[in-house]
Amino acid sequence: MKKCSRRDVFKLAGAGSLALLLPTLTRMQAGQAWADEKLDPESPQAKALGYVHHYSEVDAERWPRYAEGQICANCQLAQGDMSADWMGCSIFPGKLVAGPGWCNAWVQRQG
Ligand code: SF4
Repeated sequence: MKKCSRRDVFKLAGAGSLALLLPTLTRMQAGQAWADEKLDPESPQAKALGYVHHYSEVDAERWPRYAEGQICANCQLAQGDMSADWMGCSIFPGKLVAGPGWCNAWVQRQG
């Protein structure tokens, strides 16, 4: 029977770590944010930036930066799949924002 060397132990530990990290790496490569919960428009952070789940709800008088055509799905700060209904946003880490949503931090997506 072959003895297990210290090198073998490190190899196994490395393979095990990689297996544990694989879902994380895959998700990062896909550009998905660590977000599982929909952003509550009534939360203090969302309210501070006038976030709404749908651009039609924007109070244009209160948020004069809003212009027609601005939505989360074409915002530079959105993360993940821009064709999805819900996506991550670097302004609201850990939360999902709606594709047709909007907030006052909107920035034209490049490319
Ligand atoms: S920063 Fe952009 S993606 Fe994030 S909530 Fe505001 S408009 Fe949507």
